[in-house]
Amino acid sequence: MVVMDYELNLSATEFLYFLDCPQKFRLYRILNPLPNKDEFMNSRSRTLAHYKKRGYKGKKNKGIEYHHFFETFHKEYARFIINPIPPLEIQEDNVMLLYWVIQQEKYFETKEDCYWYPFGREVRLMTEKQRGKIDCIELCEDKNGLRIIDYKPTPEPNDQLTLLFYAKLLNDYRFEDTEDERFDYEVLEIGCYYYEMGVKKVYGLTEENRQSFERILMDTQGKISNNEFFLNKSSCCNCNFKTICKIEISQS
Ligand code: SF4
Repeated sequence: MVVMDYELNLSATEFLYFLDCPQKFRLYRILNPLPNKDEFMNSRSRTLAHYKKRGYKGKKNKGIEYHHFFETFHKEYARFIINPIPPLEIQEDNVMLLYWVIQQEKYFETKEDCYWYPFGREVRLMTEKQRGKIDCIELCEDKNGLRIIDYKPTPEPNDQLTLLFYAKLLNDYRFEDTEDERFDYEVLEIGCYYYEMGVKKVYGLTEENRQSFERILMDTQGKISNNEFFLNKSSCCNCNFKTICKIEISQS
């Protein structure tokens, strides 16, 4: 596999695949060619019907439904948010109810509406070296910066790396794409909302974190550029690419 310079652009999924098993990244990239910037930034979120057609089932489908609920929550429910009792459809679903509670608390705590309404939702960005869709961008208190929020069902070991990936993506995008005036502020905080638990964890973005992440990303892109696609067999048991990987190994 010859990797051209422009192909060093990584999504968070690709980046984490490479860290887990470089061969996994390689197979994923063969199956999912790199999009161009316009195509990526202007593509619309896929509908649930689209995911169902592609064979997504159970928990994955539920996760897509919840992402849609979070994305449209403020538009659909802002007019009810001061009510002591949430709408019936929310009462009937524990994840929705937990989100309602946390949003209602935030609504009563915030000084101005701009801190309650998300600054951006499902934001697609592409820079020279990275691309990704950020679930939610909020305004930090006193408007001193932006906060990136990733929606996840429960905590996972790579959560912090994913958040640092998105923070760099947005901060770099502000400098690379000077015609896009949407982002007046840089990312200062990162966090996850764990929707099955109703817990939001937010951290400050430190210089030390930024620098150590940049080193990991540069190192990864350097290895991809050198075609260092070794197999990490300790990750095989939970790998979605097992079948295709075996075919590749037996043919080589
Ligand atoms: S099956 Fe194992 S070696 Fe092959 S891509 Fe998956 S983790 Fe890597």
